[in-house]
Amino acid sequence: MENQILEKYARLVVQSGVNIQKGQTLVVASPIECAPFTRLIAEQAYQAGARDVVINWKDEISSKIRFLQAPNEIFDEFPNWQKEFYLSYVREGAAFVSISASDPELLKDVDPGRIMRVQKASNTALEEYRERLMSNRNRWCVVSVPTPAWAKKVFAGLPEAEAVEALWSSIAKAVRVDTEDPVAAWEAHKAHLKNRLEFLNEAKFHSLHYRNSLGTDLTVALPEDHLWLGGSEFSPDGIEFIANMPTEEVFTLPRKNGVNGVIVSSKPLNYNGNLIDRFSLTLKEGRIIDCKAQVGEAILKKLVETDDGSHYLGEVALVPHASPISESNILFYNTLFDENASCHFAIGKAYPVCIKEGENKSKEELTQLGVNDSLVHVDFMIGTADLEIMGVTAEGKEVPVFKNGNFAFSR
Ligand code: ZN
Ligand code: ZN
Repeated sequence: MENQILEKYARLVVQSGVNIQKGQTLVVASPIECAPFTRLIAEQAYQAGARDVVINWKDEISSKIRFLQAPNEIFDEFPNWQKEFYLSYVREGAAFVSISASDPELLKDVDPGRIMRVQKASNTALEEYRERLMSNRNRWCVVSVPTPAWAKKVFAGLPEAEAVEALWSSIAKAVRVDTEDPVAAWEAHKAHLKNRLEFLNEAKFHSLHYRNSLGTDLTVALPEDHLWLGGSEFSPDGIEFIANMPTEEVFTLPRKNGVNGVIVSSKPLNYNGNLIDRFSLTLKEGRIIDCKAQVGEAILKKLVETDDGSHYLGEVALVPHASPISESNILFYNTLFDENASCHFAIGKAYPVCIKEGENKSKEELTQLGVNDSLVHVDFMIGTADLEIMGVTAEGKEVPVFKNGNFAFSR
């Protein structure tokens, strides 16, 4: 990828993504393969006035070696120094960039029990950190950069170097850095998403009814004070940021106990280096009472069994089938991209900001309002070209929201 485009991308992440402020610390979680891009982010952050840029290097191959060869007892441990690392930076108000670029099938030979134990130990230790990010108290942004292992999975027919280049162009297009002025392109995109948000927030739907030919037939109740969000968000000091780049979704939360029916997945889900594919969930009064998968069923079951909250949904997101990433017809095996090509839900924790004043409410108050809590939050894709969604208002009036996979209203 041309250097000029990489610089534009790094500037976009620093300025529009986390919107770094003078004197603020930036923490970047980066795979070692992405070092050249991460260094550009550091340069851009210092130029924007960052006080310090701290890089948290990750090596997925070393993680795999540890998963396969370390003694069994260590997988419930989370080192104190790592906990201290995250908590000290999140408490001082740092911003967080995370580069998502894992090999989709890295951990397919690893015992799923070990993966889940590590996930649980880490999510438990870092609960305060996750809570602060999911309530927008710290600004954060997830982006992607190709790695050879990931690119080879997406473009299986191409030699490695070409696959990496092809993935770079797809990413550049999805995050609009192939345009003359990416910041302006994002402003236009945010305005577009805002129109959809306004329609949905004015409609105040009581429930949504989903149906398609894959077999999805689901009613999702929405809490009374739910808010639809999308595009950009704001930290408590009123500073705008974009948590995911790309982002094509508008999203809210379901009422924890108000989801009934069957959901069928429409794309494979890469969960912690394992693929879960062709799966379905059956829900009764919000709770997942049955789940089946043709690929990765053991992983799916472990995910659902993480804690009580992982038996419920925490996000309802709408993405038209005719959206740029979806029309590229590329399966990315990376949720950051695939969720922005498809309507999706999340298993687990809901974003407190999706309910009025939610960021200022206690855990108990949020539970009362039907906001789900869990150690996990995992998006999975369900959108298809024939998806129909009917909104039902509090008065029982039916309003089409999706028809043939796309928004049924023209705003
Ligand atoms: Zn989402
Ligand atoms: Zn999500």
